[in-house]
Amino acid sequence: MTLDDLNEQIRKCRKCRLWQCAKNAVPGEGPDTIRLMLVGQNPGGEEDKAGRPFVGRSGKFLNAVLAKNDIDREELFVTNIVKHVTPKNRNPSPDEISACVPYLISQVKMLKPKIVVLMGAVAWQAPRVKGVEYIETVHPSAAMRFTKMRKRFEEDFATLKKRL
Ligand code: URA
Repeated sequence: MTLDDLNEQIRKCRKCRLWQCAKNAVPGEGPDTIRLMLVGQNPGGEEDKAGRPFVGRSGKFLNAVLAKNDIDREELFVTNIVKHVTPKNRNPSPDEISACVPYLISQVKMLKPKIVVLMGAVAWQAPRVKGVEYIETVHPSAAMRFTKMRKRFEEDFATLKKRL
C-alpha cells in the first residue's frame, strides 16, 4: 500500500460517526521521506474546510515555533490522532480514537520517522511503534494560551531540533 492509498482509505472512512459532520477528512500532509512527524488531536473547523492539518490559529503558532527553531514544515509530516473534525471541537471519544488510531500506526510504519512528537494529552494515547522515538509535549493551542505551557512547548522544540 502507498501513502496515497492510505489517504484514500482515510477519506472514505466510515468506521465512526465523525465523517457525518465533516466537510473533509484530514489525513495529514508532508513528503514520504521524513525524520519527524507531528501528531495533534483532531482537525478543527479551518482544517476541516481545507482538508489540511494545522492551518488555523494553532497551526500559525506551530509554524512560528518551527521557524524559530529552523525546522522546515515542508520536510516533516503533520497529522492528528483522529482524522475528522469533531462536533463543536469536543474531544474525540475513546471509540472514535480507537477506530482512527490504526491509520496513524500505518502512517508511522510507512513513513518511518526517527521521531514522533505527540502534541497534547489526546495524542499521548497513541500506541508506540517499535524503533521510533516518541516525545510528548503540550498541544499548540494550550501553548498559545498559557505562558507555562508555551515555555514547555518552546523548550521541547528546541531540544527536538538538537536530536533530529
Ligand atoms: N488542532 C489539532 O489538534 N489539529 C489540527 O489539525 C488543528 C488544530
